[in-house]
Formats: sequence, structure tokens, C-alpha cells
Amino acid sequence: MSAPVPPRTGAASAPVVVYENVRKSFGTFTALNGVSFQVNKGEVVCLIGPSGSGKSTLLRCTNALEKHDGGRILFEGVPLPADEKSLHGVRRRMGMVFQSFELFPHMTALENVCEGPVTVLGMSKADAITRATALLKKVGLADKALNYPANLSGGQQQRVAIARALAMQPDMMLFDEPTSALDPETVGEVLNVMKQLAEEGMTMVVVTHEMAFARRVANWVVVFEAGAVIEQGPPTQIFDAPLVSRTKDFLSHLGWEG
Ligand code: ADP
Ligand code: MG
Repeated sequence: MSAPVPPRTGAASAPVVVYENVRKSFGTFTALNGVSFQVNKGEVVCLIGPSGSGKSTLLRCTNALEKHDGGRILFEGVPLPADEKSLHGVRRRMGMVFQSFELFPHMTALENVCEGPVTVLGMSKADAITRATALLKKVGLADKALNYPANLSGGQQQRVAIARALAMQPDMMLFDEPTSALDPETVGEVLNVMKQLAEEGMTMVVVTHEMAFARRVANWVVVFEAGAVIEQGPPTQIFDAPLVSRTKDFLSHLGWEG
């Protein structure tokens, strides 16, 4: 019932992540029922689809926060390793940003961004501060470095979370509905930071309900329904001329006019 996969423009660049018939069950419930698509270097791939369709599960399987139990996930051509030590190495190369920010509440913005480089990468405190300061500037928060999360807006906290992920110098970034918990007026500032990252060539997988963002920034859009990919293609296809009527139904349900 899934539509044929159209040719991939820009596929000249190497695949970073390849999902091959990925399956995942929780007990008797099948959350991912044979998901296949790929993410190429420098691409923004947006995952869309109804709540409960398996988007977060797929992201969590990508960095092995969950273990998939069928099919393969290849990262840079190599299946995700089974042992925790090697997985730790893979996880470090994928920055993840969650809906709920998950900043350390007892640390300032600057300390939040320094934490990973110092404790995980073994960077000197001085170097970590230099890097964190530059990253906070990049996300537009140079003047908030000494604020605690409680004294930052949702949009600001999420930008700190992005800076914190970038401080680990990941090869790719995974975003799980990064703007869903935000007040409407702060959504744009987070999307702008993500757009800037995309323009700099960061490889990104983004679960989002921000269809205008996906339409404008994504190179490839994957539509999930009930643990399966019902359609994938360039945003022009998905948003302007979907091949699958269920894609159209989902988008019109969200108020997308096409
Ligand atoms: P989405 O992100 O698209 O909203 P999820 O990937 O979070 O969907 O969830 C897909 C389905 O898997 C949902 O029905 C959800 O209830 C179920 N699920 C997710 N995580 C677990 C879990 N740890 N245990 C049991 N069921 C889960
Ligand atoms: Mg989700």
C-alpha cells in the first residue's frame, strides 16, 4: 500500500543512515512494521505522520535508545553494533534534541553546554567554555549564558539544548518534535536555528508537525502511518501532489492547503 519511491535528487552524496525493513515491537504491539528509507549526508529528512505512528520509536532506534528487533539500521555503512561500548561511540556522533529540552536545571546555559565536552570528551574546562560561548552566540543566546533554565523561555531553552547537542560535534542531529512544547511566538526562533544548521550542511532527521518548515527546508519527507512508511519523496511531491490519498488526508487534517 506504500507508493513507489521516486528517484532521489542529490543522492550523489553518501548515505549516512540507511533503514532496511526496520521492525520494533513492544510486547505484542508492533510499533515499526518494516520501515525503509535513507538519509544522505547534508540532507534534512523530515518524518511526519499521526501521533503513535512510530516516528519517535524510529528516532530512538537510530541512536539505539531503543533496540530494533528486525531489519537493519546502517550508520555510515555499518549496522548498529550490539555491544553497549560501541553503541556509546555511535550515540556520541548523533546529537539528539527532544520536545522537552531536558536541560540540567541546576546548571546555567553555559554549564549545560560545557557538561558533555568536559565529562564525556575530556575537554579542558577552558576549551569547553570557549566552544560553548561560541555555540550560544550561534543560537542567539550570547547574553543568556549565565541564566538557569528556569529563567529562560521555552524557545531559549530549546536553543540551549541545540547548542548542547552541537557541543559534542555530532555528525548528524536527530530532532523529535523540537517545537511542539513551545509557545507559538517562540517556535520561529528555534526553526530559524535549525534552518541555519541545515544551510551549513548538517545532516538532520526531524520529526515535526511544522509543515511549512518541512516544505521549505526538507530534502526528503517520509510519511508514517501505523508503524509503516506510506509515502516518501521530495517535499514538492508530498505537499503539492501526494501519491497516496492517506498522505493528503493527514495533511488536510493538519490544515495544510497544499
Ligand atoms: P509517534 O512518535 O509517531 O507519536 P511513537 O513512536 O512514540 O509514535 O509510538 C508508536 C507506538 O508505540 C505508540 O502506539 C506507542 O504507544 C507505542 N510505544 C512507544 N514506546 C513504547 C514503549 N516503551 N512501550 C510500549 N509501547 C510503546
Ligand atoms: Mg513522537
